[in-house]
Amino acid sequence: MLDSFGRNINKLRVSLGESCNMACTYCVTSIKDHNPDPNALSSSDLLKLVSLLVSYSGITKIRITGGEPLLHRDLLSFIDGVRQLGVESIGLTTNGLNLSKLATSLKEAGLDSVNISLDSLNPENFRKLGRAGRLERVLEGIEKALTARLRVKLNMVVIRGANDHEVVDLLDYAIERRIELRYLELMRMGPLFQTEKFPLFPMHEILELIGRHFTWRKVDAEHDATAQRYWVPGGHFGIIPNESAPFCSTCSRLRLTSSGQLVGCLSNPTPTSIQHLLKQQEVASELNERVAHSIAFKEPVAFTGSNLGMSRIGG
Ligand code: SAM
Repeated sequence: MLDSFGRNINKLRVSLGESCNMACTYCVTSIKDHNPDPNALSSSDLLKLVSLLVSYSGITKIRITGGEPLLHRDLLSFIDGVRQLGVESIGLTTNGLNLSKLATSLKEAGLDSVNISLDSLNPENFRKLGRAGRLERVLEGIEKALTARLRVKLNMVVIRGANDHEVVDLLDYAIERRIELRYLELMRMGPLFQTEKFPLFPMHEILELIGRHFTWRKVDAEHDATAQRYWVPGGHFGIIPNESAPFCSTCSRLRLTSSGQLVGCLSNPTPTSIQHLLKQQEVASELNERVAHSIAFKEPVAFTGSNLGMSRIGG
């Protein structure tokens, strides 16, 4: 569906629930912040809503997120159901803690790609940033995902004074495995919304650090990509410059929460429920009214911050 700025909203991010087995310091204040949504739909109802959005609202690419999607007990059947909708691609974003045991089944169910969050290669620092989980398990998960022939990307949120000294180590690790690493600039969300000392480590400093070790060159990225893409000898990396070079003007995303609410924008998370459409026969026109309403809240230029944490909306 086209919005009033001519953006073609064709990517859907589906949150399977807010539960998570990590509590990243920049995402939540404690693991207790991850409350299961009391209004969460069953996975079959959520799948029906996805199917409606694919049939009537021009969604062609799906990304499954959360919370931590690998904790959801119906994940494999959900992916299988999405695959049967015939969409162009199915991706998933995960912290990777449970990936090693699930990678092969995920691929068999129809998953195409997996983005794994990895903020540190140092076990202690990993634990400090994520407050839970063992780095070793994530690294095993990455190897298993590669063996299962899933397309793998790594996401590192770079935080001044916390992991900026690992920028080059992470790139070395990714290049060795032929994986594309994306550096995420920190976003003013949840616990960081309106914080006085926002520990942003901006794109130009990331590039400067990398430039001390590698020759890099900017290359083209897809028109609606969130990441700027760079070539380095042996591979590519990306930077998602939420603050330094906002990309909202080409954003093509719509979000669906686990309770069946549409969210058009991380900055203006004004949810619009489509849950009631599960009980209706004729849905097309009302569904598209609701989609149009939620994408009307999309920021035209730049993310402006939100008091909702990323794990509530699903990234
Ligand atoms: N549990 C999964 C994971 O860890 O990837 C999926 C959900 S998590 C909320 C999705 C992504 O949001 C992760 O890559 C995480 O690092 C990122 N994220 C959360 N809070 C953020 C913030 N304030 N700024 C930038 N990225 C953030």
